Amino acid sequence: MATKITEECINCGACEPECPNTAIYAGGTQYELNGKTIDALSQDFYYIVPEKCTECVGHFEKEQCAAVCPVDCCVPDTDRVETEDALLVRAKALHPDRTFAALDATNSHFRA
Ligand code: SF4
Ligand code: SF4
Repeated sequence: MATKITEECINCGACEPECPNTAIYAGGTQYELNGKTIDALSQDFYYIVPEKCTECVGHFEKEQCAAVCPVDCCVPDTDRVETEDALLVRAKALHPDRTFAALDATNSHFRA
């Protein structure tokens, strides 16, 4: 499932540079997807674009936004449950020029 940011967010900005998929944006900031510019999903808090979040699968052993968030408000979105396979497909689509290593405990929280 994608990760989401709850209203507990204090807008510290720590998570945004940690995302390997540029999936995190400040509230009120338009986001980019497939060459299009789209209106912000939140006006008040940092937000995650679900179509760009891979739960860090393919990149890191755990969700990097959640790892740095000082108030633990980056949480699994239970309305968007996705498989590890689907998340890896997304990671590859987001990074067509990159070769991904086989998934293991270092690049998929599913295998931790
Ligand atoms: Fe980005 Fe990973 Fe957080 Fe998803 S879980 S928003 S990919 S840092
Ligand atoms: Fe909000 Fe947490 Fe990101 Fe800071 S690290 S902007 S509190 S979601």
